[in-house]
Amino acid sequence: MMDLNDLYREVIVDHNRNPRNFREMADATCTVAGHNPLCGDQLTLYLKLRDGVIDDVSFQGSGCAISVASASLMTEILKGKSQAEAGRLFDKFHALVTDAGDEADPELGKLAVLAGVRQYPSRIKCAVLSWHAMNAALHGDTMASTE
Ligand code: ZN
Repeated sequence: MMDLNDLYREVIVDHNRNPRNFREMADATCTVAGHNPLCGDQLTLYLKLRDGVIDDVSFQGSGCAISVASASLMTEILKGKSQAEAGRLFDKFHALVTDAGDEADPELGKLAVLAGVRQYPSRIKCAVLSWHAMNAALHGDTMASTE
């Protein structure tokens, strides 16, 4: 029997090896460069917004397994979400990986696999980097840093 932590680890390893939506987007409406100086994670997030809805989202970059897996999982969940829903997910995800979040929240879905990073304060910034980039994009910024 695998315990939940093994399952979570497997999802993270899978998304790190085969990141979803890992590509440039030529017709993106927002592009944000994200940087986590603490770990050296770097990514570029591409968003295509249409009528207030995230029509497409992708990323490129390099970083540790947590940052890549988190970005990959984020792109999967954001497609088709409204800007308001994406903003709410940002808040919920932030709470999930810091301390107050609810792993069982159905809206977070597979993102629950990252709840474990709350035990490793130095990795929290890795997990939230792509989310900060997404939040910056929704606010019209082109740069995001975890500092
Ligand atoms: Zn990292």
